[in-house]
Amino acid sequence: MPTSRSSALHLAFDPLFYEHRSRGHHPERPERLEAARRGLARCEAAGLTAALLPPRDATPAELARAHHPAYLAELDRLDGHFAALDADTYLAPRSMAAARRAAGGAIALAEALVAAGEGSPRQGLALLRPPGHHATRDQGMGFCLLNNIALAAHAALAAGLSRVAIVDWDVHHGNGTQDIFWTDDRVLFVSLHESPLYPGTGAVQEAGEGRGLGRTINVPLPASATDPVYRLAFEEVVLPALRRYRPELVLVSAGFDAHARDPLASMQVTEPGYAWMARALREAADEMAGGRLGLVLEGGYDLPAIEASVEASLHGALGWPVAEVTGEVGDRHREAVAVARHAAEAAWAEGAAARD
Ligand SMILES: [Zn+2]
Repeated sequence: MPTSRSSALHLAFDPLFYEHRSRGHHPERPERLEAARRGLARCEAAGLTAALLPPRDATPAELARAHHPAYLAELDRLDGHFAALDADTYLAPRSMAAARRAAGGAIALAEALVAAGEGSPRQGLALLRPPGHHATRDQGMGFCLLNNIALAAHAALAAGLSRVAIVDWDVHHGNGTQDIFWTDDRVLFVSLHESPLYPGTGAVQEAGEGRGLGRTINVPLPASATDPVYRLAFEEVVLPALRRYRPELVLVSAGFDAHARDPLASMQVTEPGYAWMARALREAADEMAGGRLGLVLEGGYDLPAIEASVEASLHGALGWPVAEVTGEVGDRHREAVAVARHAAEAAWAEGAAARD
């Protein structure tokens, strides 16, 4: 199926997201979002129309779909104060206001994509912070307070979908998203991440349990993985999993910390790699999900890399021309991809038998 070129997308954004700011230096800082906005602006200059979704907060009932009441009560107690959930994860007085608005933005994006009718955008972007994919059901960590993308997936299910895929290309394992959908077969979660690296989870054996067995797929990759390594992982693991699962909506935990310039990790992804991955997911979305594709910002800590990678990812997601990705893949990375593929296929088969 030829991928058509989109000229509009839904945008979730609110200036409130700049008000989550630590007292000292912290890599997860408001300037990241300004860089992401500049990447979007470059696409707007090239003809893209970004339709801003009406900002809204996630409701307590929506938050309770993904988070434990005791954890939400703890966040309410810390609201309005400087606090820390762990050594990495800060709250400032306006952080919970930003977090509720960010979660609401991700939810609004999912609802807009589900409802998209004739002539309305089928793709979207949530430029938000604090990020979300490390937040588990009952614990914030790794700079994350509320799990924005898990709440978006839950909103899509509540709006009537049966199968949502989340592809997490942030360089860190999306342990929170994995935790929230561990036993849930309505969400396929696929994470590509550097290993070993924070938070230390995301081995290939972690594949979900019960009805969720086979619906969690982990692709841990050794450091220094390049664009061709990510392409191979997509061709061998991610895209076949999507074809088996046939999602009705594809969401992306779009962190940009696998970029070669990123200070917190050691991967070697560049702009053409992000464009290629986004383009591949757009083609998959066109093939099986009515074109519905939503990118939700996660990590990424080098400002020029964020700006250029957001632009490149949007080119791919919109079906605009992107560069081909070619090059050698070394034995270490080839082996890691093969191991992940075999584990994913075995767990898928085992899970299918268990669900029958
Ligand atoms: Zn990350």
